[in-house]
Amino acid sequence: MAEENFNQLTPAQTELLALLAEECGEVVQIVGKILRHGLKSHHPKDEDETTNAELLAKEIGDLLIAADAVVAAQMGVTRDNITKAEERKVRSIQQYLHHATIRQTWNR
Ligand SMILES: [Mg+2]
Repeated sequence: MAEENFNQLTPAQTELLALLAEECGEVVQIVGKILRHGLKSHHPKDEDETTNAELLAKEIGDLLIAADAVVAAQMGVTRDNITKAEERKVRSIQQYLHHATIRQTWNR
């Protein structure tokens, strides 16, 4: 009998969660670069001179795809629950921000 992981995740679920974690890490990494070097900065060896802002957009896109894949895999993470969490966050976070104003600018 094949041994199973205690978490009972399927290989596909494990893979999607790994992808989600990886993309979260890539967003964190580029945010760190922006905080150190700025939005318009780029890697000195990047011949295309892709800016950190462009890289952040790419990584956020990658993250959203990974999140959509988790929803599509029917793992108990639903679009409806994500929407409710977004609405709660928009209502609750503003009081803790000192400079920024939160607005939802897209409907997914
Ligand atoms: Mg990525």
